[in-house]
Amino acid sequence: MRVLLVEDNAELVSLLTKGLGQSGFSADSVGTVEDAINVLATMKYGAVVLDLGLPDEDGLVLLRDMRRKHDTTPVLVLTARDRVSDRVTGLREGADDYLPKPFAMEELVARLHALLRRPGNLLGRLLTFGNVSLDTEGRQVFVDNAARTFPARETAVLEILLRRGGHVAPKRVFEDQLFGLSGDVGSNAVEVYVHRLRKMLGDAGANVRIHTVRGVGYLMAEEKRG
Ligand code: CA
Repeated sequence: MRVLLVEDNAELVSLLTKGLGQSGFSADSVGTVEDAINVLATMKYGAVVLDLGLPDEDGLVLLRDMRRKHDTTPVLVLTARDRVSDRVTGLREGADDYLPKPFAMEELVARLHALLRRPGNLLGRLLTFGNVSLDTEGRQVFVDNAARTFPARETAVLEILLRRGGHVAPKRVFEDQLFGLSGDVGSNAVEVYVHRLRKMLGDAGANVRIHTVRGVGYLMAEEKRG
């Protein structure tokens, strides 16, 4: 599997190229948004690993450009740990996952494998699972093709669940997302928003159900109706 690494730190590039190589990926690397746009115009990659702090432009400029061109290549964003708002913005702009720096190579590889296992309809701008869709740019929810407007935090929870449709999303991911939106989130806040989202989806006639995986996180699955 070929991966494009967009990172300007030479030391990190050589570390990542080596690590990815040992895990069966082959990585090409570029150090600017401009070079990345040029390479992506001619080459198809299995995934893009994108640093946000690049010398010519913010990495999000590349992400925006890709999604505008309907390029649905999975994008994993690398962010500095103290910039939670970057992660939220990144996910909103169509990133498929993010990894805070510093990170362990094994985690990057695990995330890439998880991304590559996801079906195409769970990547990019319009996410669909069961009869539920979310336009991640317009923040509009659709249940059975009927438009619904959910509050911002419930929508953020839904987005995380949709992006991992069928797989468990760790509670930490929800906390990051919610903290990014408000700054003061209590310990049971995630449960509260999940509970509200469950009710909204149920009332709207969604055929998906949110399962609690005790001590780990949440999982969205299609409901079997008899
Ligand atoms: Ca950088």
